[in-house]
Amino acid sequence: MNQYIETLDNIFSEYVRLRDADQYGMIRCISCGKRVKWQYADAGHFVSRKHMGLRFDNNNVNAQCVDCNRFKSGNLKKYKRGLIVKHGRYIIDYLENKKTDIRQYTDYEIELLCSYYRKQIRLLKDKKCL
Ligand SMILES: [Zn+2]
Repeated sequence: MNQYIETLDNIFSEYVRLRDADQYGMIRCISCGKRVKWQYADAGHFVSRKHMGLRFDNNNVNAQCVDCNRFKSGNLKKYKRGLIVKHGRYIIDYLENKKTDIRQYTDYEIELLCSYYRKQIRLLKDKKCL
């Protein structure tokens, strides 16, 4: 995996956690519902990030507590329930269907996505006063 993808992983993770944070900077874990300060949360993938078509998909990545993401392998059964509550039941079919998409990013595309999400991070921090 190239270093540009890793940089984008980090930026996208920060974006997702800020997106899911409330005005107090707290996220609610998509799986177990625990409230965590956004800086101490993870951005967890429902479909594994090895599937490049969903690695940077806004629906597939959500704020999650460290316990569920790292120690319960995503706590996927509850993650599924959380996704259905958040997006409706068709979200699961949508994600399962996209799982097989072959997606490759050029360095230029990654650079663009980095710039885009960096800007989104600044906007979210301003908007939520974080
Ligand atoms: Zn959790």
